Amino acid sequence: MSANYVSLQQLHTFGLPVNAKRVVIASQAQEIRQAWFDSRQEDLPFLLLGEGSNVLFLEDFAGIVVFNRLKGVEINEQADSWQVHVGAGENWHQLIQTLLGQGVYGLENLALIPGCAGSAPIQNIGAYGLEFKDICNYVELLNLDSGEVVRLSAAQCQFGYRESLFKHQYRQGYAVIAVGLKLSKKWQPRLNYGELKNFDPQTVTPQQVFDSVCHMRQSKLPNPAVTGNAGSFFKNPLVSRQQGEAILRDYPNAPVYPVGDETVKLAAGWLIDQCQLKGKQIGGAMVHPKQALVIVNYAQAIPQDVVALASLVQKSVHTAFSVLIEPEVRFIARSGEVNAMECLS
Ligand code: NAP
Repeated sequence: MSANYVSLQQLHTFGLPVNAKRVVIASQAQEIRQAWFDSRQEDLPFLLLGEGSNVLFLEDFAGIVVFNRLKGVEINEQADSWQVHVGAGENWHQLIQTLLGQGVYGLENLALIPGCAGSAPIQNIGAYGLEFKDICNYVELLNLDSGEVVRLSAAQCQFGYRESLFKHQYRQGYAVIAVGLKLSKKWQPRLNYGELKNFDPQTVTPQQVFDSVCHMRQSKLPNPAVTGNAGSFFKNPLVSRQQGEAILRDYPNAPVYPVGDETVKLAAGWLIDQCQLKGKQIGGAMVHPKQALVIVNYAQAIPQDVVALASLVQKSVHTAFSVLIEPEVRFIARSGEVNAMECLS
């Protein structure tokens, strides 16, 4: 490590031993802009994170990492909905708890997803049949050069499966500073997944959905505060209907979900599990024994352990099923984000 570098180990959920030249914890939008100007002036890479829950640092970061801690939750009552304006640095799970406590419902399926409210639109977080886009009203963006604040409607954000405009057009030079949620007063439970199917839609309460989602996640997913990880390491692959049918011929119980007429979604965790990789270790990195989609830092892993293991997982799935699974986690090198697929090849 070069002199004066700051450790990032406690500042991202993978907990890898990496460092940054400088770290800024920003509780005001102006601090984010100042760090941006400093990075331009000193010709340093700039990286804006929430809680660092979806990144894999490949090495030390040679620039300024800014952690967005802009706070504030405002709830406005409308005739048939609640409109909630949330500072980007609010913790996502705490926000859901706060809203539940105030009788504002609709986020329960997204309980316990690590990270901040401002990170939610970037990859359009989703779980148990609900995605951020379903409850998004707007996203507020700060243009770091001009200081202008732009409010994008949900439609303008171009949300897709773990996708949005914020990964592309607004990746550099902009900061998400707030999100707006629109939650109907007529709460409609979403009960298509796992244990949720056992509830009666007529009688189930938001608290029961919340508790059930927390229970399912806690029984299967590693707590990043205890064992470093970045959630699902890979995205669920979308393949042609024919490819899905071919897999179903060999594995009649395979999880294959229709997405439109000609495309199906496969469960990446299931594909990895079929390759007998649960518990597979390289160095200090391991495929989580209970959920194959998650790679954990179980014993002082270094970035190269994680990359080698992810590469092995990707190749094994490709050999067994001719399906190329793509990382969901964002790979960060010395000067910024790099193409994760290229890193694994
Ligand atoms: P699971 O129930 O074992 O199912 C495996 C996969 O099958 C899921 O990823 C899910 O896809 C899909 N699936 C299951 N039931 C479905 C249904 N009724 N309709 C359509 N697709 C269905 O999943 P899990 O791994 O325990 O995860 C449960 C949920 O939490 C999933 O929605 C998952 O995406 C989410 N999760 C997200 C992260 C993250 O870091 N992004 C981490 C953990 C869990 P989808 O992923 O498209 O829903």
